[in-house]
Amino acid sequence: MLKTLRQIAQEVGTAKDLKAALSVIVQRVREVMGTEVCSVYLFDAEDQRYVLMATEGLNKRSVGKVSLARNEGLVGLVGRREEPINLEDAPSHKDFRYFAETGEEKYYSFLGVPIIHHRRVMGVLVVQQRERRQFDEGEEAFLVTMSAQLSGVIAHAEATGSIRGMGRKAKPVQDAKFLGVPGSPGVAIGTAVVLLPPADLDSVPDRAATDVPAELEAFRVAIEGARKEVRKISGRLERTLRPEERALFDVYLMILEDPAIAGEVEDIIRTGQWAQGAVRQVVKQHIKRFDAMEDEYLRERAADIRDLGRRVLSNLQQARKDKIEIPDQAILVSDELSPAMLGEISPEKLVGLVSVKGSGNSHVAILARAMGIPTVMGAVDLPYSRLDGLPLVLDGYHGEVYTNPSDEVLRQYSAVMADERELVKGLEALRDVPCETTDGRRMPLWVNTGLLADVQRSLNHGAEGVGLYRSEVPFMVMERFPSEKEQQATYREQLQAFHPQPVTMRTLDVGGDKPLSYFPIKEDNPFLGWRGIRVTLDHPDIFLVQVRAMLKASAGLGNLRIMLPMITGLHELEEASHLIHRAWGEVRDEGVDVQMPPIGVMVEVPAAVYQARELARHADFLSVGSNDLTQYLLAVDRNNPRVAELYDFYHPALLQALQSVVHAAHAEGKPVSICGEMAGDPATAVLLMAMGFDSLSMNATNLPRVKWLLRQLSLTHAQQLLEQVQGMDNPQVIRSVVDLYLRNLGLGRVINPASDVTA
Ligand code: PEP
Ligand code: MG
Repeated sequence: MLKTLRQIAQEVGTAKDLKAALSVIVQRVREVMGTEVCSVYLFDAEDQRYVLMATEGLNKRSVGKVSLARNEGLVGLVGRREEPINLEDAPSHKDFRYFAETGEEKYYSFLGVPIIHHRRVMGVLVVQQRERRQFDEGEEAFLVTMSAQLSGVIAHAEATGSIRGMGRKAKPVQDAKFLGVPGSPGVAIGTAVVLLPPADLDSVPDRAATDVPAELEAFRVAIEGARKEVRKISGRLERTLRPEERALFDVYLMILEDPAIAGEVEDIIRTGQWAQGAVRQVVKQHIKRFDAMEDEYLRERAADIRDLGRRVLSNLQQARKDKIEIPDQAILVSDELSPAMLGEISPEKLVGLVSVKGSGNSHVAILARAMGIPTVMGAVDLPYSRLDGLPLVLDGYHGEVYTNPSDEVLRQYSAVMADERELVKGLEALRDVPCETTDGRRMPLWVNTGLLADVQRSLNHGAEGVGLYRSEVPFMVMERFPSEKEQQATYREQLQAFHPQPVTMRTLDVGGDKPLSYFPIKEDNPFLGWRGIRVTLDHPDIFLVQVRAMLKASAGLGNLRIMLPMITGLHELEEASHLIHRAWGEVRDEGVDVQMPPIGVMVEVPAAVYQARELARHADFLSVGSNDLTQYLLAVDRNNPRVAELYDFYHPALLQALQSVVHAAHAEGKPVSICGEMAGDPATAVLLMAMGFDSLSMNATNLPRVKWLLRQLSLTHAQQLLEQVQGMDNPQVIRSVVDLYLRNLGLGRVINPASDVTA
């Protein structure tokens, strides 16, 4: 049963559109369950009706025509009850509704199960039979499982507009709005540049060839490229492998030289398909054919074909990349944006970023915020591979993407961009004034850095120090661990640029969603695994080199502070301090005269909240990492768009935890700062100041907004607001209360600049 389910799921997953997916479902379910009828009804939210969308067994001409109101018929009943209905004699049920055009009068038994996605009934899956009998438990369980798999496919199709494309009111990709989650604030208007995952056959879209002879030529060159690679690998392994083992490469070469396969690809290109699409079609057909073979040896050839297909595709993609012209206002679109991809397009041309995977708290989004590039993450329904070259509007405040926007959408967002420019100009004037409330509370605003470009941006925006230097960022752009000397030079740049202001350097925090290509960590739960201080304590070699580089870089400057990530207990602080003292001794033995820097602990794991007092006693300062603390406290993966709505800085548990950390640090007479993204949100910054944080550290882009807002308020007012929300239990209510309070004071302009867009 499981195997059958898996097979059907695979067929559904590779169907070219929803119509094809539904017809696979009804055919296969009918076949596997041995029933006479299988049908799918989908709920059309606009008309509030269930529409028959596919059937095997009923009259096919009724597809798209027969529909039932929400409270009508057995289908309506299944939808309302949100559970299966299994009947021996359906026509005698009081809710049975008969449609002459379906020809269903002869069927007695009925089993209907709801198709539910994220609490919403999307439709009903039905099987029927002439015989009067109840479907058994196994059949019911099978249909429920089928429906659960179908729900995701339908939700995706609905969001991409393809349900409407099924012969009803067509809604193509043009002028559509796709929802994601906010990644980095701001609006961008530009042209989509799609980065496809390299050499991934499944993600290659169909696309019309603009120049057929050029595509044919590109294909021939790519085949030649793949041939050369195979010969090279075979030659390299000449001494390692026996001749019979190397015979595989001859098979590869034979496949590549097979005129039949190449001919099939060329024929498809001649019909007007681009080369990559033609390669995908032919390779996948061959894989399917081999996969279905009885003979194990022949079945294994499917893997060879896939491998060769990927090689040819990779050659085609590389050649295209070399040629492609990046438009001036480029919006980079990708299935999974990575920090390294930010470097693919020159910064002058890059105006926006869209990622299908990930959420606003993924590290790539954090970097985008630091660079001030509007970004939408987690746009899970975006048909991203089909967008290349299309005009887009990107709303990074709300996490929305408009494809082929209408004049009205363009007009409204151009107005938001103009307002933004005005606001930024106004804020520039605040650069040299202190961040001080109307009743005289001075609030030092620090900056989070990592990229070299952050330095100038931070200084331009009037940062008073660095509250978090993410030292892993320079590690991530290398192809090997940087040497002590290289690190020293990088750190020196930071320390010097901000001197005499403090620079808080966090020791290497890799793992989680910050992998190093040259130090792979494979784990099922990377955020609960080998991350941050756990890695560096296990690798004193890496840790000592880094700390020595930091210490040497600070010589003569004395503005270094060292901070430890992911601390869960005192023992880790003690071990790390011991190593830092050792490195300090070594550096002084080498004749470099440096002071011992203050050592701080990041509070970003719930265990550290409960031990904040002890940690504060032994450390020189605390700094809250609200990004991870929110994820661990609320058990919400910071990268997962499906639960992004649950990731909420206004959650009362988080607010209580933050307040208790401030009290604990102050009870030990130690300063406490916050360096998660929460500090850079102007509205939450008000609450943090009221809690008593000694400094706020944020991305350079938001710093002027936070400064502007805090300068308009008194500490007393902020404390009253905090007191008001501390008694509340619902994060959304808290958010609304804070927003309303600030808006009533006339301070709404830095909170949600695109709130008036009505598109
Ligand atoms: C945090 O977790 O809040 C933090 C500042 O660190 P990072 O986002 O780099 O994990
Ligand atoms: Mg963190």
